[in-house]
Amino acid sequence: MSPITHALVSWAVGTFVPRSTRRDRVLVTLAGLVPDVDGFGAPIDLFTRAFTESPTRLFHAYHHELHCVGWAVVACGVLAALAERGRRALLGAFCLFAFHLHLLCDVAGAKGPDGSQWEIPYLLPFSRAWQWKVSWQWELNAWPNILLTLLLLGYCVYTALRSGRTVVEVASLRIDRALVRTLRARFGRLVPPRSEESQEAPPSPAEPAPRRPESDS
Ligand SMILES: [Zn+2]
Repeated sequence: MSPITHALVSWAVGTFVPRSTRRDRVLVTLAGLVPDVDGFGAPIDLFTRAFTESPTRLFHAYHHELHCVGWAVVACGVLAALAERGRRALLGAFCLFAFHLHLLCDVAGAKGPDGSQWEIPYLLPFSRAWQWKVSWQWELNAWPNILLTLLLLGYCVYTALRSGRTVVEVASLRIDRALVRTLRARFGRLVPPRSEESQEAPPSPAEPAPRRPESDS
């Protein structure tokens, strides 16, 4: 699936971490994106195809090599170590879940436009004996992927209205807050905010104390 869908899926998973903080949600989102680090060759291939006579095929050679249990343990271990002390085991479990959800999404909906199927060598670096692949895999641009992305965007809008955050918080808290303000101004009546607003929301400016009428005496 596309990195945008993977980001939406894993961020949505992150919102279910009990008493989740922004750091928690960012870590879980990253866990849902790190398998695609092995797609690093795509821009290099595009460049060499356009500007050289010996194009590389790095994407073809390496994509899905990190969609495996070895990378899951290493990447999710590092991400969990970046969590707050006392929450590392919990975050490690959520990171592993998001990582594997990425693999399942790819198995289900990542067939190439030419009909080629990617096999996921899950047991790497230990073995290539077990390759994940299903006969009913649909294409990257098929309607289930589009529907899933739209549903996740809907959840994102709901979370903005309800809890004051969107997936944009992964990249920029400032833009996220601006987006939340815009969405609440437009659709705020549909979903009222939670009474206990996000722990991380900036404190609202203190109401000025009512001025006591000045005595004439
Ligand atoms: Zn992938």
